[in-house]
Amino acid sequence: MSHRVTLIPGDGIGPEVTNAARIVADATGVPIEWEVVEAGEKVMAKEGTPLPSRVLESLRKNRVGLKGPITTPIGSGFRSVNVALRQELDLYASLRPARAIAGEGTRYPDVNLVVVREATEGLYSGVEHWVDRDHSAGESINIITRKASERICRFAFDYATKNGRKKVTAVHKANIMKVTGGLFQEVFRTVAKGYPAITSEERLIDNMCMQLVKKPEEYDVLVTTNLFGDILSDLCAGLSGGLGVAPGALLGDSMALFEPVHGSAPKYAGQDKADPVAEILCLELLLRHLGYKEEAEKVFRAVWETIYEKKVVTYDLALPGYTNWPTKPSTCSAMAKEIARKVNDVDLDAPLKRRDWTSGAAPAAGLANDKALEA
Ligand code: NAD
Repeated sequence: MSHRVTLIPGDGIGPEVTNAARIVADATGVPIEWEVVEAGEKVMAKEGTPLPSRVLESLRKNRVGLKGPITTPIGSGFRSVNVALRQELDLYASLRPARAIAGEGTRYPDVNLVVVREATEGLYSGVEHWVDRDHSAGESINIITRKASERICRFAFDYATKNGRKKVTAVHKANIMKVTGGLFQEVFRTVAKGYPAITSEERLIDNMCMQLVKKPEEYDVLVTTNLFGDILSDLCAGLSGGLGVAPGALLGDSMALFEPVHGSAPKYAGQDKADPVAEILCLELLLRHLGYKEEAEKVFRAVWETIYEKKVVTYDLALPGYTNWPTKPSTCSAMAKEIARKVNDVDLDAPLKRRDWTSGAAPAAGLANDKALEA
């Protein structure tokens, strides 16, 4: 039986990276029938809406989807399609794993944490207005409910339990935002009591950012509200190798939509230059969701080996100073084909090779090497 999966190519680099994921999906042999539906800027220009009802209908019917990034105009213009999708379909849990792959492109080869972000309310509820006629003051409403806080905290603890993770850290700002942050904190503490086998702790958002940059290996699962989760997941993407390698999943009670953390990177659109790994790792998560564990593991290992070998990698992974630095960065499509070629050759029992350049071959950069700072 083949699986019908909704595919939203999206804007900017979206069509290129989703096409890359399809190339790898074909190599796995998993029978997937893609139902392609367009959303975003181009549809807006043609149909006057960036999110036609057929997109929501397709996702409601298929219950699983793969999505490329969608542009949101800054300051004015149409409302975020991404936020609308999450709210309309009640995709309340945004799961964003940050794993350092092969020790490449990161200063933190041991990073392996997961950000669980509440995706339907908070400061992204879209409730904002001008306070006066002159537009000299604005107000955004931060909606935090007991119901949404409880289900996201429960989701984080259930995820930790099912995936052998040991600790859940709640991130909030309850010292300043005593009502909204305080409610989230209270609910987290109550939910945590039901999971005695999992360690629970809390951090204020500002301290969390500092702790993550200093010692990310001490964190496991982070659970937080919408805006803090958006910012933390980009920070964690940076820890694990950059936006080009950071996948994500949006999960509801009976629906799953997989999308990378990165945006539509308009400056690289149409150049076959973007890193396809984030979208390919979304495919890995999608295959796990459909129950194809072995195929998912093969995709992950094929990505890992391609990055470890560093012969066919895109510009963001081909940084000067690393060992095996390729002289010429590869294209998005060439990297996808290389990963696809490896999918059926990977040895599922072999140990994953890792380059820990922090112990020697690090790029010569940073304040310690900055001659301008010498007296
Ligand atoms: P962005 O993620 O598009 O780009 C940030 C930086 O990362 C840029 O330097 C970009 O070139 C680089 N980058 C991103 N993805 C990459 C990849 N796959 N390979 C190599 N480099 C990559 O963020 P932005 O510039 O803030 O946003 C651009 C647009 O994307 C905006 O309209 C924003 O609203 C939208 N956006 C959409 C989503 C989504 O659809 N879920 C998420 C974030 C941003």
